[in-house]
Amino acid sequence: MTADNIDNLLHESRRFPPSDAFAAQAVATRDLYTQAGTTPAERQEFWGVQARDLLHWHKPFSRTLDWSNPPFATWFDDGELNVAYNCLDRHVIAGHGDRVALNWEGEPGDSRTFTYAELTAEVKRAANLLTALGIRQGDRVAIYLPLVPEAVIAMLAVARLGAVHTVIFGGFSAESIRDRVNDASAKLVITADGGYRKGRVFPLKPAVDAALAPDADGTSTTVRNVLVVKRGGNDVDWVEGRDLWWDEEIAQVDSEHIAKAFPAENPLFILYTSGTTGKPKGILHTSGGYLTQVAFTHKNVFDLKPEEDVYWSTADVGWITGHSYVVYGPLANGATQVIYEGTPDTPHPGRWWEIVQKHKVSILYAAPTAIRTFMKLGRQIPAEFDLSSLRLLGSVGEPINPEAWVWYRDVIGGGTTPVVDTWWQTETGAIMLSALPGVTTLKPGSAQVPIPGIAIDVVDEGFHSTGADQGGLLVVTEPWPSMLRGIWGDPDRFVETYWSKFGPSTYFAGDGARRDKDGDIWLLGRVDDVMNVSGHRLSTAEIESSLVSHPMVAEAAVVGASDETTGQAVVAFVITRASQADAAAADDAGAILRAHVAAQIGAIARPREVFIVTELPKTRSGKIMRRLLRDVAEGREVGDTTTLADTHVMSVISKTMR
Ligand code: ATP
Ligand code: MG
Repeated sequence: MTADNIDNLLHESRRFPPSDAFAAQAVATRDLYTQAGTTPAERQEFWGVQARDLLHWHKPFSRTLDWSNPPFATWFDDGELNVAYNCLDRHVIAGHGDRVALNWEGEPGDSRTFTYAELTAEVKRAANLLTALGIRQGDRVAIYLPLVPEAVIAMLAVARLGAVHTVIFGGFSAESIRDRVNDASAKLVITADGGYRKGRVFPLKPAVDAALAPDADGTSTTVRNVLVVKRGGNDVDWVEGRDLWWDEEIAQVDSEHIAKAFPAENPLFILYTSGTTGKPKGILHTSGGYLTQVAFTHKNVFDLKPEEDVYWSTADVGWITGHSYVVYGPLANGATQVIYEGTPDTPHPGRWWEIVQKHKVSILYAAPTAIRTFMKLGRQIPAEFDLSSLRLLGSVGEPINPEAWVWYRDVIGGGTTPVVDTWWQTETGAIMLSALPGVTTLKPGSAQVPIPGIAIDVVDEGFHSTGADQGGLLVVTEPWPSMLRGIWGDPDRFVETYWSKFGPSTYFAGDGARRDKDGDIWLLGRVDDVMNVSGHRLSTAEIESSLVSHPMVAEAAVVGASDETTGQAVVAFVITRASQADAAAADDAGAILRAHVAAQIGAIARPREVFIVTELPKTRSGKIMRRLLRDVAEGREVGDTTTLADTHVMSVISKTMR
């Protein structure tokens, strides 16, 4: 072991081979790995086959990949397609117009349903409206909406015109909107009066108004119009000549619209990262390669049978998961899906399970943060609902602790459903590591193996592959179809951030990982969060998973705080399960948990302190922001909190520690 590697701490030995029944009906087969081959040329050929099989090309491509100028890649670049046509019209033409595309649930209990024919007609109208407002190929359109059907319609209408959307999570501040609108030089903003959250209307348009107001020095943004969807019914200010009601305008345009073909490398969207580690980056994705990989992974990782399944990804369209696995992947595959506007606990903590029961959801894709919240509340809540329609569960966003994985499978999945842990990033565009259900023997806590056609390695600082069970850095060693094409307007930062550590053709993901003896990959957390205790490099994920494996604990975050004797010491923040509240209130809860970690993974990982808290600082996409906890643990002023979901949390945590 070299000091470059991250120590291996946790041993998880539970195994879940696919059942014969599941394997017999699975979409993915082991054969996919064979088809993808073992050389770069074979992998490229494989993606060429997928692109032709899964998508409609107005003009077929003859070249697969151009990697002559790394890290700037093009895929399928002489081909032409229309992304929205692929998600809509072609399903109607193929006779599936009556299939439900979207089952939308509003938070207050209202609902709307769109078949593929209806959604296609809506998007055509919206495309005509945007054209009338002067939107052309390449123009940027900012979308700041709650999760209402118009969010999906707006994204597809922009794509249909070959324009570029940038979706801004409908909870970000005026300042965040302004930064993004300016960075992208958007011509149009699509927003709503307000949306529903936690049982109330929260206004959206005021934030847009503030974001677009001229600067103190009189500089205004590039935005010409603001289209406003009526959702909250709240009063709004109106700027004549700039603001337009979506419903009034859309009623006046035609529902016929012919989708034009655009080059495969036409930009599709800019999306800013979650901002877990710092200032968000404007990640650029393009059309043909992106759509190929999202369609391929959505079909094979989620075992999708479009005629039978009801798929639900709980992500907001403001995140990459909402782009790839609410809008583009599922619709390219002709899936029937559920989307839900509100929070999981409104009006009652069983709301998600009620929706699963109502729509007979068969595939559910959610984040570990949600699963751990449900663990905290207890299994009696999902037990009130019929969840027997579920046959596959997915996880994304953070490492899933083995205990949370097993809980998800047992309590939500009735002890039988496969759980696929999918590792990927805004930058990768689509899933990169995952089990294939029906093929892979599942290991709780491991994201397992590269998707067929993807080349991933775990290396040390010297770029040598690490040995079995040694932690290192996760890298992607070959270009992939849905890879980011750049950081918007900043090619230097693109090269510097992702492609400089190991040279211009190796993508550095920024995450720590280890590969076990079977070749399965375990994510260890962000490289920036690795702790150094007496010369041992310890990952966050393994110590957190050890804490979560104690019956008292629902959720945990650990950070390294400077320590006079050990350099850094492990400091843990823990949320307990509701059923164990008494145990946790005991004076010795911290001592018990410290001993538990030491017994499970070794004295070196024993936390110096354990703080029992009621909340953890998270981004709005639900990821733990360890850097803020580190600030608290080291007694510093808390750093930039602009992407924090609830700023109040930090003062509550600081108080707990005193
Ligand atoms: P920023 O880059 O601005 O700090 P972010 O990294 O949180 O924000 P995203 O692109 O939304 O932005 O998140 C990708 C990151 O989420 C990955 O790099 C990884 O750290 C984590 N992640 C996502 N899925 C998984 C998973 N299945 N297992 C482990 N970690 C995951
Ligand atoms: Mg990131």
